[in-house]
Amino acid sequence: MAANLKITLTPAAEHAVRAGHPWVFADRVKSQNREGTSGELAIIYDRRNRYFAVGLYDALSPIRVRILVHGDSVRVDDDWFRDRIAVAARMRDEYFADGKTTGYRWVNGESDGLPGMVLDRYGAVGVVKVYTAAWLPCLSDGRFLDWVRSSCPAASSWVLRLSRNIHGPASKAGLADGDVLLGKREDVEVTTFIENGVTFEAEPVKGQKTGFFLDQRDNRSRVRDLARDADVLNVFSHAGGFSVHAAVGGARSATDVDISKHALDAATRNMQINRAHHPGVSQCRHKTVQADAFEWLANAAKDGASYDVVVIDPPSLAKRQAESVGALEAYQRLARNGVKLLRPGGVLVAASCSAHVSAEPFFKVVRQVAWQHGDAGSELFASGHAIDHPARIPEAHYLKCLAWKTE
Ligand code: SAH
Repeated sequence: MAANLKITLTPAAEHAVRAGHPWVFADRVKSQNREGTSGELAIIYDRRNRYFAVGLYDALSPIRVRILVHGDSVRVDDDWFRDRIAVAARMRDEYFADGKTTGYRWVNGESDGLPGMVLDRYGAVGVVKVYTAAWLPCLSDGRFLDWVRSSCPAASSWVLRLSRNIHGPASKAGLADGDVLLGKREDVEVTTFIENGVTFEAEPVKGQKTGFFLDQRDNRSRVRDLARDADVLNVFSHAGGFSVHAAVGGARSATDVDISKHALDAATRNMQINRAHHPGVSQCRHKTVQADAFEWLANAAKDGASYDVVVIDPPSLAKRQAESVGALEAYQRLARNGVKLLRPGGVLVAASCSAHVSAEPFFKVVRQVAWQHGDAGSELFASGHAIDHPARIPEAHYLKCLAWKTE
């Protein structure tokens, strides 16, 4: 057996790891006793040759080591992984114990001490999404399934999703995006789950993210509370998450705009499956518009359309830091075009999921648009991450949402 992989860091990286940061970049590794392979444990020693942390090694990524534990008193073995998943999952299971929500995040990567790994629950289907090749060995040799069997008992099936950058190494390990690790493919391609009493379809195998945008749950509830008798416009609607909640809350009409016909078809089905249980949904007029939402929104006011609630939730507009200025300009344009459609007393709900745009500049842009529109309006909420999406490091903060009610 090869000797343990032993690594030392530059002083700055050592300091950062001691302060709790979970990543070590490749150029911060000062020395290592041998080449490592992705997925093995890297034992990190300080400048006095004392062991002080353990991480997962990734031979390919610029993030060379993802820290699992600090200190020297813990043994990282199968029990450790199982326990760490169990602790994170139990917190959510207890939070959602009333059964009104069966779609939520069990594990949120770095913020739950399991860097590069996300576990989502959709009813009886679990989805594991990994962002580093370091997790591939435990997925291909069955250890992962062993960990989650006891930690996440609600899931009787498991689907694997891979970030784009690891499709190559995954195929060498015999794994592919959308693999069904446990259960039957026909049971997991489309599944249903409940969100605050509302039923939705999710597509764990092929859908965006892990099959649905669970991160907007709390904001959808807030919109539901604002929607009585409202005409609601839901721009970048995906599968109609905000619209179905608005309909449950008594919206008169809901219009979903998205570029994807597939997403709009799902939105129509999501309305249908809730009709029988929610009188509001059966009474709400639902319309879908397949269009480029940037263009559509720019022209909508000219057609004389107006709404009581306008939700704007675009995809990430900045894939890297250099794009953040352009993204803020785009958010500003979207918000400007959105408020133009509001009736007096109407509400703009503007969201951003761009990790490279931080909360304050985003809120500032939306507030400016709102004030220019009318300075007697009021801010209803400015929100961040839901309880099942904790963000412990700056890089994990991505979601922000602001609601403004015009006078
Ligand atoms: N609000 C949704 C999530 C939106 S995700 C929810 O609550 O679940 C972003 C959506 O924007 C995706 O559905 C994607 O298909 C859509 N999209 C991306 N580019 C677009 C464009 N140019 N015009 C319209 N929709 C777009």
